[in-house]
Amino acid sequence: MIQIRNLHKSFDQLEILKGIDLDVQSGETVVIIGPSGSGKTTFLRCLNLLETPTSGALTLADRHLQFTPGRPVAKNEMLALRRETGMVFQNYNLFPHKTALENLMEGQITVLGRSKSEAREKALRLLDKVGLADRADMYPHQLSGGQQQRVGIARAMAMDPKVLLFDEPTSALDPELVGEVLKVMKELAQEGMTMVIVTHEMKFAQDVADRVVFIDGGVIVEQGPPAEIFGAAKHERTRQFLNKLS
Ligand code: ADP
Repeated sequence: MIQIRNLHKSFDQLEILKGIDLDVQSGETVVIIGPSGSGKTTFLRCLNLLETPTSGALTLADRHLQFTPGRPVAKNEMLALRRETGMVFQNYNLFPHKTALENLMEGQITVLGRSKSEAREKALRLLDKVGLADRADMYPHQLSGGQQQRVGIARAMAMDPKVLLFDEPTSALDPELVGEVLKVMKELAQEGMTMVIVTHEMKFAQDVADRVVFIDGGVIVEQGPPAEIFGAAKHERTRQFLNKLS
């Protein structure tokens, strides 16, 4: 589903991503872990082109983009690739003046050209799926953080993305609200959604990930099944990082 080759990203003169290669299979759940500042969020944002990679290649579904310094990618190609992805943000990023239902309908109508009734039907189905059917007409400020993030996930799903990207989806939540969001994510993983998740929730990674990728200093240091990474990491840097957390 995703193929990344020799991806680099610099901000001004500072190189943050230093050559990342990664393949994600259809239906796979990949969890990215690593120290703060190691480039995890930047990497995720490169996957849907919220950040433009400095160089390298990205294939997502059947869309292929090559990045070369000084040669900008055509806007329509970027938008087409972005449309294949759904992004769930740390701070939900809901439209504050729209209800939960309207948040889910907006993109379907303006970007995908769906009719209002079609968009509404899909929105209601997805709100039901994340356990919020009875909150459809509420505004974000009337919802808890956990509920807002579940709306955020449903909104991303409403666009029928091929891949869902999660950027620390639970790190702004009070601890007692984390579980309800992780539960929705786990269900999506079990249904075969392709997901790339940046998180500090190691228990979730252990439970749900098909593969854990450890990034440090802008490179992938190590990757493997959770049992291997958490139980028998090969690299000292991975072990040090995990030891610090426990
Ligand atoms: P992580 O998600 O692993 O904590 P980030 O990808 O957020 O790491 O950040 C990696 C580095 O890139 C940090 O040093 C950060 O300051 C820098 N960085 C991220 N975004 C920008 C930006 N838009 N402009 C300049 N530097 C940035």
